[in-house]
Amino acid sequence: MSEPDFDVIVVGAGVAGTVTAYQLAQQGLSVVLIERGETAGSKNLSGGIMYTHAIKQVFPNFVEEAPIERKIDRNRIVFMNADSWVGIDSFDQRLHEGTTAVTVLRAHVDAWLAEQCENAGVMVMPGVRVDTLLKEGNQIVGIQAGEDELRARVVVAADGVNSFIARDAGLRTKPSTDQQAVGVKAVLKLDAATIEDRFNVGPDNGVGYALVGDCSQGVGGGGFLYTNKDTLSVGLVLRLDDLVKKGLRTTDVFDHFLAHPLVDQLIHGAELVEYGCHLVNEGGEHMMGQIVHNGLVLVGDAAGLTLNTGLTVRGMDLAAGSAIAAAKGIGEAIAKNDVTASGLAAYKTALYDSFVGQDMHTYVKAPHFLENDVMYKEVGELVANVLYPVFNLDTTPRKHMMKIATQALKESPLKLTRLGKVGLEGVRAL
Ligand SMILES: Cc1cc2nc3c(=O)[nH]c(=O)nc-3n(C[C@H](O)[C@H](O)[C@H](O)COP(=O)(O)OP(=O)(O)OC[C@H]3O[C@@H](n4cnc5c(N)ncnc54)[C@H](O)[C@@H]3O)c2cc1C
Repeated sequence: MSEPDFDVIVVGAGVAGTVTAYQLAQQGLSVVLIERGETAGSKNLSGGIMYTHAIKQVFPNFVEEAPIERKIDRNRIVFMNADSWVGIDSFDQRLHEGTTAVTVLRAHVDAWLAEQCENAGVMVMPGVRVDTLLKEGNQIVGIQAGEDELRARVVVAADGVNSFIARDAGLRTKPSTDQQAVGVKAVLKLDAATIEDRFNVGPDNGVGYALVGDCSQGVGGGGFLYTNKDTLSVGLVLRLDDLVKKGLRTTDVFDHFLAHPLVDQLIHGAELVEYGCHLVNEGGEHMMGQIVHNGLVLVGDAAGLTLNTGLTVRGMDLAAGSAIAAAKGIGEAIAKNDVTASGLAAYKTALYDSFVGQDMHTYVKAPHFLENDVMYKEVGELVANVLYPVFNLDTTPRKHMMKIATQALKESPLKLTRLGKVGLEGVRAL
């Protein structure tokens, strides 16, 4: 093998790439972090709730020092119908005290992570797009970006959901449309005082809405609305196969979502400052193929590490968790001078032993459960039809809940056996 320029080349300065690069530099390895965006985070888009347990293992003062928006201690899960909605509102002091989740804007937090990398000695190269992998026989030995070639003992593919590196190395084929969703997100400016007043939150804390039903016009997926300091992150994640099947366009579904009375009152007066679309992995554990090759490891979205359970969308904490496992595996492989797939296998073991591998496995049935189309219409309507007569105190004689529920179920296209089946699947999947 020709002499390497660096110990490790990391491609992609999202959460997965920056956290991997930082830890490798801390081990004393020479690392270059290559990002196609003009700055780290400039091309990245997330709903915006980052679960903090993994990132705090690497940056213990993350919450105090990183540019976070609000601490999320309040969660609302809402079934939306065309002209009604039913939800659960949860606040927990333990979430507040532990700062277990925060809202972030990627342009800010990725830039901060890249700065930590630079301070740790990583050479950060923004504005460079990696085009191909360099191979010697069956070993990956570097990358090519335009005319330039860079060689390293190990290449880390942290290039996101569409990872060309994973495909170039023959570790992935193009995912099927039922394994991917399109995420669309807007950032809306609203002053902090109005956010705190409207969402009933303090200056430091915030709320995350998980929305399901009419928000996606029946398309598999759901909506989210998160409070930042003086902006709101609002968006949808829509399953690609269902979008095509229903003949709907993302932008039209998004307009419908924003115009819904629930969302309209929450975003009233807010001004659009950012808008973007991005693919999201939806296949869960089934999408994870090989994550290690000779001279190459995949981390974060490139390794298929996203979990959508309908209640939470996770990717950033899994990206950080995979980075921790990768840094350990790569460090060990370089130390024993074996960067073949078997030398790098410690990454795989560390990943599968960590919360990342375990959670991917726990929620292996979630994607299938979320394909139940009754979740996006009939279930929400049924719950609203049970509650309506409870609160509509007209002059008709009252009925017990059991009778109301039986009547609502009789009138619903959703039959008891289907409801029971979906309920059972949900309990098993989530
Ligand atoms: C709408 C939406 C909502 C989401 N909501 C949440 C949420 O609330 N919470 C959560 O935890 N997760 C959420 N996710 C998932 C989360 O955003 C991803 O899982 C996470 O960003 C993965 O991080 P990553 O570092 O692996 O990839 P990315 O953040 O995608 O970073 C990849 C980087 O690689 C760079 N790159 C790509 N190709 C090249 C190349 N050829 N050369 C150089 N650089 C390259 C890109 O520019 C980018 O900076 C959401 C995703 C979407 C789309």
